[in-house]
Amino acid sequence: MLMRTLAAYVLSAPMALAGPIDRAAIEKTLEKMEAAAMAGDRDAWLATIAAGDPEWTKEQTYFANDLKKKKAEKLDLTLGEVRDVNGDAVGELTFAWNIEGEPSRRVSFEARFVPADGQWLYAGETWAKREAPGVIVLHDPGLDDMAAKVVEAFSNIRPNVDAFFEHDGTPFTQRVQKIKVYGSMKHLQQSICLSYKDGLSGWNEPDESIKLLASQRSTVRGLETLLAHEYGHVATFASGPLANDTMPWWVLEGAAELSAAACAGGSQPDRRVARWAKEGNLAPWPALADFDTIEQKWYGHVYTQGHSMLKYIEGRWEKPGRNAWLRAMGAGKPLDRATREVMGMSFDDLHAAWRATLPAEEKEDKKAEEPKVESPT
Ligand SMILES: [Zn+2]
Repeated sequence: MLMRTLAAYVLSAPMALAGPIDRAAIEKTLEKMEAAAMAGDRDAWLATIAAGDPEWTKEQTYFANDLKKKKAEKLDLTLGEVRDVNGDAVGELTFAWNIEGEPSRRVSFEARFVPADGQWLYAGETWAKREAPGVIVLHDPGLDDMAAKVVEAFSNIRPNVDAFFEHDGTPFTQRVQKIKVYGSMKHLQQSICLSYKDGLSGWNEPDESIKLLASQRSTVRGLETLLAHEYGHVATFASGPLANDTMPWWVLEGAAELSAAACAGGSQPDRRVARWAKEGNLAPWPALADFDTIEQKWYGHVYTQGHSMLKYIEGRWEKPGRNAWLRAMGAGKPLDRATREVMGMSFDDLHAAWRATLPAEEKEDKKAEEPKVESPT
């Protein structure tokens, strides 16, 4: 049984009429969730999800969409003893599942179910909360120090990232950014979707919270780099309504890495990319375009080679050119068209100009080493 002394996060949904907790109705919801996950039924999963928190809805929509691609072979949901917290049912929820052909996994956390129209709907974790101007940090229990560091790090990098993407002076800078801090990798992975199994330290998708993995060893400095990457995604998505649909994945990660390097002193891509160039180990850009079909060996290239191209663009066309290019894609113009409009050249010519800044391939029969797989963020 978890000991909790912190105020739980209360949904901003209208107050439901208080009534007794209906354990049988909650069990029925758990059965529906299990059946939906095993049937790969997106809509059935979403029918069990509480409304009222747009980010929660968005995050669960991503989760549910993934079920269509990779349904659970088995999902068992077990809810411990529940208690009444302001009319909601709160108890420890265990997800135990496997995707076909993969080992089973298990994660437990304290979860909330809320009454709605005669049902009890799943409302996710009962977070502890820390607030500061412009930011709300929701975190697993016991991570109070970490949450304070996240607030400090975010407040430090936010003005830099806002200005880097030229959002300063716009309503973007007035948003309240929600950041969820997870105490374990497996909890963070489960929150994304059941099939997610790659290592990661952060996550962001359009209109979702920023998600971070916490470690007691995390420093404000390290969190600044991580947040300048993740908030760089938020800022990139704000460059146009179609940004996430139009931009190749390497553009999204390259922009986030450039943001981390420029706004928080994150790492530079140059040495690694120069080595890949010599080894004949640069990735073809189309191989880095799609999150869903990426070959494992190119994972690191999405970030580092993408960063290298974004850095080249920044150096040659400066911040206004780089942002105009992002906004063109954000408006739905594909990569080549955006490049022609903003840089006055085809993407192939842009590639050639970038490639010319790198060392020539060494033709000796040096075998390219397998690229190192890195943790996505
Ligand atoms: Zn990223």
